[in-house]
Amino acid sequence: MGGIDLHVHTNQSDGELPPAEVVRRAAGMGLRAVSITDHDCSDGLAEAMAAGVEHGIEVIPGVELSVRHGGFEQVHLLGYFVDQRNPDLENHLTELRDSRLGRGKRLVQKINQKLAQEGLPLIDFAQVEKLANKVISRPHIAKVMTDMGVTPSMPEAFRKYLVPLNIQKHKLGFEEAVNAVKKAGGIPVLAHPNLITADRREQIRLLDDFTRAGLKGLEVYYNNMTERDTEHYRVLALERNLLLTGGSDFHGFNNVYGNLGRVHGGRVVPEELLNPLKESYFQNRKVLVACGGFRSESAEKVLDSICMLTGADRIDGRAVAQGFPRVDPQSPQGLHMDIAIKRIVVLESELKLLRGKSAAVFCRYLDRKSALDLAAVASRCGADFALVLGPESASAVEGSESTAVVLNPESGTAAPYAGTSRNTLSNLLYFTLRG
Ligand code: AMP
Ligand code: MN
Ligand code: MN
Ligand code: MN
Repeated sequence: MGGIDLHVHTNQSDGELPPAEVVRRAAGMGLRAVSITDHDCSDGLAEAMAAGVEHGIEVIPGVELSVRHGGFEQVHLLGYFVDQRNPDLENHLTELRDSRLGRGKRLVQKINQKLAQEGLPLIDFAQVEKLANKVISRPHIAKVMTDMGVTPSMPEAFRKYLVPLNIQKHKLGFEEAVNAVKKAGGIPVLAHPNLITADRREQIRLLDDFTRAGLKGLEVYYNNMTERDTEHYRVLALERNLLLTGGSDFHGFNNVYGNLGRVHGGRVVPEELLNPLKESYFQNRKVLVACGGFRSESAEKVLDSICMLTGADRIDGRAVAQGFPRVDPQSPQGLHMDIAIKRIVVLESELKLLRGKSAAVFCRYLDRKSALDLAAVASRCGADFALVLGPESASAVEGSESTAVVLNPESGTAAPYAGTSRNTLSNLLYFTLRG
């Protein structure tokens, strides 16, 4: 089937299913990639990305932030490829979640007053807290009310209680949200422009304001958009040089908000949208790629695809190794390590000349020590990432504080680094290699 879904919620915010389960279902449907974009929360990303490796689907880390702008209710900013360890983003998310607790309590009090007048049973806030993980949202209240039999359905709970009695939650200003996403290395994308306002002139005004403030993309496929809507938003995005994204806004709960993987009442979001997003992610990043320890033919392929994706310049480490004295054949490890270290010395000076560009380096023999050395070189050269590829380097880099991703193209496994931006890259590379 193919297709991607870049807008999906889990039980880490107001979705029903755990992150791993959402990812498993997305893979089961044959989707190529899914992005987890919980409201005000990045806690589900590590679990989702590990599940992605397990089930063979690419998982893009994401988040959805609520934005305060001109009195509009539904200005939501998606952030793709955010680093979930970024302290600035984490502070914002914590603040947003904290304010939801007090707001949720006050909202339940307000609803209970109305329920008491109507002679209906009251909501127990502890139930709401139990259902929600960290992000207390109105759908949790709606679910509790529906389960109690106070309302026949969640949309009905919204219509009768949660919309008319709503209390505003804390939101970020637009620039504040864009900057938080950018500082966390992410790409800021405006979600569901069709839900912000039906007035298309107003939409254009907002889009121009947001683009000036640093917006990079627009969600042009969405569960309740028609094909004509999508075409309309696609033109608006292209005119402003914005990236195109799309997703279902799946929440579970019997698909009241959207079906996983589906837009336009049954179509999928085309997977061609994904590479431009990744390329944008790699722009302005310096990546050092080193690989070794496996057959050179597969290594060639690995490097070529990485260079394509990252725009890296390639340095061929093999030439540098020529002319080295032969070392005791009884000690192949010694030989390998020696050669690798000499190469790194050359590499460092070459990398300095590259200045801010990515570099891919082929090292035929890459052992544990040289993998660590490479990570150190990368950090001295100001690289954002060092990708150290090869079976032996996995254990070397694990637990080290250097920015490194370890991938074994031979076995097709990526070492899972929970909750870090390394995860992003290992996933990116893993799926690039799979083709
Ligand atoms: P909150 O962030 O607590 O204000 O809850 C907002 C969430 O409630 C949205 O992300 C949707 O998942 C859901 N929602 C908003 N409006 C409605 C509605 N009219 N009917 C059903 N669900 C809604
Ligand atoms: Mn929601
Ligand atoms: Mn939204
Ligand atoms: Mn959403």
